[in-house]
Amino acid sequence: MEPTWMAKGLCANQPPETFFPSDGVGVEVAKRICAQCTVKDGCLEYALTNRIDHGVWGGCSERQRRRILKARRKEAEKAEKKERKLLR
Ligand code: SF4
Repeated sequence: MEPTWMAKGLCANQPPETFFPSDGVGVEVAKRICAQCTVKDGCLEYALTNRIDHGVWGGCSERQRRRILKARRKEAEKAEKKERKLLR
């Protein structure tokens, strides 16, 4: 079942292939549409949570989402280390 925000996304009225571009120019086109979308934040979190590898979601390319996930992992590891230190 689709999350309710999906129906509100600007991509709902675009050809799906717009958001699964094959080159950098296409990525920029999709990102420009996402920039105007009111459900952008929820869309990005959905893609991150569900580890969606392909396409532009929430205004972020695949590479950008990988970077965000990596940064979050590092932050979580840092916080865990800090917590472990405090418990000693
Ligand atoms: S942010 Fe982009 S991909 Fe996400 S719902 Fe909006 S238009 Fe679609």
